[in-house]
Amino acid sequence: MRDVRMKGFAERADVEEVQDFLGVQIRPLASEAVDLLSCVGRVLAEEVRAEVDVPGFARSAMDGYAVCGEDTFGASAYDPIALSVLGEALPGKPFAGRVERGNAVRVMTGAPIPAGADAVVMAEVCEERKGVVEISEAVAPHKNIGAIGEDIRVGDLVLRAGRRLRPQDAGLLASIGVSAPTCVRRPRVQLVITGDELLPAGSQPEGPRIVDSNSVVVRSLVARDGGELLPFEILPDRPEIISDALRDADADVVIVTGGSSVGTEDHAPRLVAELGSLDFHGISMRPSSPTGVGRIEGRLVFLLPGNPVSCLCAYEFFAGPSLRALGGRSREWPHRRVRLPLARKISSAVGRTDYVRIAVESGKVIPIATSGASILSSTVRADGCVIVPRELEGMAEGAEVEVLLYDDEIPEEVAP
Ligand code: AMP
Ligand code: MG
Repeated sequence: MRDVRMKGFAERADVEEVQDFLGVQIRPLASEAVDLLSCVGRVLAEEVRAEVDVPGFARSAMDGYAVCGEDTFGASAYDPIALSVLGEALPGKPFAGRVERGNAVRVMTGAPIPAGADAVVMAEVCEERKGVVEISEAVAPHKNIGAIGEDIRVGDLVLRAGRRLRPQDAGLLASIGVSAPTCVRRPRVQLVITGDELLPAGSQPEGPRIVDSNSVVVRSLVARDGGELLPFEILPDRPEIISDALRDADADVVIVTGGSSVGTEDHAPRLVAELGSLDFHGISMRPSSPTGVGRIEGRLVFLLPGNPVSCLCAYEFFAGPSLRALGGRSREWPHRRVRLPLARKISSAVGRTDYVRIAVESGKVIPIATSGASILSSTVRADGCVIVPRELEGMAEGAEVEVLLYDDEIPEEVAP
């Protein structure tokens, strides 16, 4: 591969070309058993079918008395029916005997229905005194009884493969006796943060040295996209050190930030080409044109530019969807989208994909004026972004555009 340092890119790939390449390369990772108590948010690798009925026994749906329903026929407040109380059934503590005609057993919600009984009269219409209960309302057989399998039946398909587990899904898995659902493994991500000028996050910027903000952004995006972040350090712009980091990464995905462009200190592209393949370097987009994508021994490597907006943009275009796909999730934008009119036109160039930060005000989309890839505060002011596809020269004022919001909350201005 041609050394692009201080020469610039001879040609740039289209965003779609790179995305298509990643689409073909990436398959969900293998599956693993995940402890039930930490499975929320994970993606099921296999469908789950119930091997038990829930409940596995007929249970009382009320506090009251288990009876033979026919015994209560004709009961009213003026003419209550008296049954003798044989004992009690509690949740987890069944009544051992049998309810014959003329008898009742006191039951609490969730208690097994005693043999012989076929209905439960609710406590509110009963009065018990000295071993006898007076019932002032009739109940039909089967009333107030939760039948075996009323929640889940043996063989039911309870969750499909690909499901991102929610809290109630984990609860349901617990209820059918699953202890470790089979989930897609989370992609392991190695960050390689490069730059002689960088101080670790949490430090004070000092003279010409700046604080590494890219790793702070990227680590949260990796977490959002289901990746497992490995420990990392900031590395100097020294090829032998960056080379070791690229070669030794015990990860599914390596994300390099900084040093990805065509400056004299931009070593990563050449190193990726030497250690594996640099499949793309230089993409027709703004910002993030110096982005690179390669592979080293089965690991995907993303070279994200150091400029914070470029870094965020390149992550969202390429690394984020790839991580989601590896983890069995959808590649799609992971937040809400809305369609709204543009308050001002957006200029772009045919042949280039633009990532435009926008704010939403009074139901309109306002492009944020700065185009600087180094202006991180522009992403903080923004509610989301609009993507101007490569075949458009821009978007006209008033045109309805799709906004990819940065959050799941709809900005107040858009809420109905
Ligand atoms: P580079 O991609 O290494 O040429 O860096 C481009 C710009 O981004 C330079 O101004 C760097 O100082 C800045 N930069 C690089 N890495 C980071 C980082 N981790 N956090 C914040 N800014 C960075
Ligand atoms: Mg640099």
